[in-house]
Amino acid sequence: MRIILLGPPGAGKGTQAERIVARHEIIQLSTGDMLRAAVKAGTEVGQKAKAIMESGGLVSDDIVIGIVSERIEEPDCKNGFILDGFPRTVAQAEALDKLLDEKDMSLDAVVELVVDEGALMARMENRVKETLAAGGQVRKDDNPETFRQRLEAYTAQTAPLSSFYAKTGRLKQIDGMQGIDEVTADIERVLSDSVSA
Ligand code: AMP
Repeated sequence: MRIILLGPPGAGKGTQAERIVARHEIIQLSTGDMLRAAVKAGTEVGQKAKAIMESGGLVSDDIVIGIVSERIEEPDCKNGFILDGFPRTVAQAEALDKLLDEKDMSLDAVVELVVDEGALMARMENRVKETLAAGGQVRKDDNPETFRQRLEAYTAQTAPLSSFYAKTGRLKQIDGMQGIDEVTADIERVLSDSVSA
């Protein structure tokens, strides 16, 4: 099973991806993790990606597509994978279609967690207030301004992906504002429909 999970930061993609991985015995492939590993190992890709990642920009399509192309041929991808953080742009989505086609693979589902961004902002502001009130520390990226920037970047660069997949009839939208278990149940329904289709 090969899946793409779309949705803005804070939509619960990580939690749902973990559940999908456990249930379907597939692996999660995160381009962010792969790039961080390349930077750490000091490979050629890592050297090219380092400064871009530090500035919060997007690493070039050629580099990212190259690492995904190699990675999905590894034996541990045989059962399938869930892509996390890729594709990030329509150009990457087009390239992914092309490379899957070349490898005689196909996508089973593109699942988008649809959320109300205003409600997500309120949720994260509350979480920060509660943590501080309890005397705890908040993560560096857990502040409303950074969160707003990440949401804006998502809307500008990544949201057009949902139109791309909708146009080709592959997009399955799920209400991401429901409880975690309800979202998981909806995802499972979509996945079983897609695989049996
Ligand atoms: P992430 O862990 O997904 O937030 O990714 C961390 C950083 O890696 C991003 O800010 C980008 O610089 C880079 N990156 C990860 N995935 C991609 C991608 N699909 N395209 C371009 N850059 C990416």
